Amino acid sequence: MILGVESSCDDTSLAVFDEQSGLFSYEKTSSQIDLHALYGGVVPQLAAREHLRNFPVMLADLVKNISPSKITKIAVTCGPGLPGSLALGVSFAQSLGLILKREVTGVHHLRGHILSPFMGQNSQKNDFKSKNFPHLSLLVSGGNTILAEVDENFEVRIIAQTIDDAAGEAIDKGAKLLGLKYPGGPEVEHYATLGNEKRFQFPQAFTRENEMSFSFSGLKTSLRYRLEKLSDEALREQFNDICASYQFAIIDILAKKMEQVLFQGNFRSIGLSGGVSNNRQLRTRIGELGKENGIVCHIPEAKYTGDNASMVAFAAAVDETHTLKAINFYPNWKLA
Ligand code: ADP
Ligand code: MG
Repeated sequence: MILGVESSCDDTSLAVFDEQSGLFSYEKTSSQIDLHALYGGVVPQLAAREHLRNFPVMLADLVKNISPSKITKIAVTCGPGLPGSLALGVSFAQSLGLILKREVTGVHHLRGHILSPFMGQNSQKNDFKSKNFPHLSLLVSGGNTILAEVDENFEVRIIAQTIDDAAGEAIDKGAKLLGLKYPGGPEVEHYATLGNEKRFQFPQAFTRENEMSFSFSGLKTSLRYRLEKLSDEALREQFNDICASYQFAIIDILAKKMEQVLFQGNFRSIGLSGGVSNNRQLRTRIGELGKENGIVCHIPEAKYTGDNASMVAFAAAVDETHTLKAINFYPNWKLA
């Protein structure tokens, strides 16, 4: 059984993955959202202090449920992420490795996300490899917007990524302008479901045929100008429609770009991952994209969309090639 450890940003998470059954015997994540919401975003020093507090409490809970002797390997996120947060996770994993006399491997956080759509579908760990690759992966989170091709050896080729804000960042910044609390994704989604997404047109940059990048910063600026011109009363009247139209602009460009790339390549499956993939409209839209094109679409369960240790343990199990010895941490570890 592999123990996964994740603490790259503001979630402390432990999970135990049984390679034989392909199931998780333990999964727990402690979110720090309430703390960081007070400051409107993640405060790195506070995140590190919370991880320091959380790890012993979570380990105590884990050993109540799983005998540590059953753990055969430890996998920890070594990057990319916040230096203080990563260092605490690696140090925690190393200490456990020493005590249990187990190997400690380092996992790339984004590889964890990219493989997360394949979690929990297969009882045999390599079953999914033969069916789904080359795979087109859309990773959308607070810090990343990456469209990438993944081959059967899990080599990643980045096709498009954002040149400014990430999709989640654009939603969070938009939400802030609208006076909503951090993180903005679930808030905007809530009001968007009550509104008309067709009422306003927000600018969608880089929709040109061959432009392989995303840009979301113009969207936020356009929202700011729109809000500056509105009276309080008009804002109240338009609020839900603005949320719906703003969210639609982001989802629409993600889906269109994915479709464009899908036509150009020879993919056997598509997938969605990262915190923004918690969004129901995005999940539906990408699912439809798969159906329309007769291609299987993998979307992780909602609990695996944000940062979690389950995807770290899973990535270590199915993609050992891209792990490293966890003797250090790499805040800017490149994906490809
Ligand atoms: P990172 O690790 O890059 O910080 P996460 O994978 O933790 O990102 O995802 C956090 C991001 O996901 C935030 O930007 C948040 O607003 C966004 N998010 C979470 N839930 C939703 C949702 N339902 N709709 C849209 N975005 C969401
Ligand atoms: Mg993440």
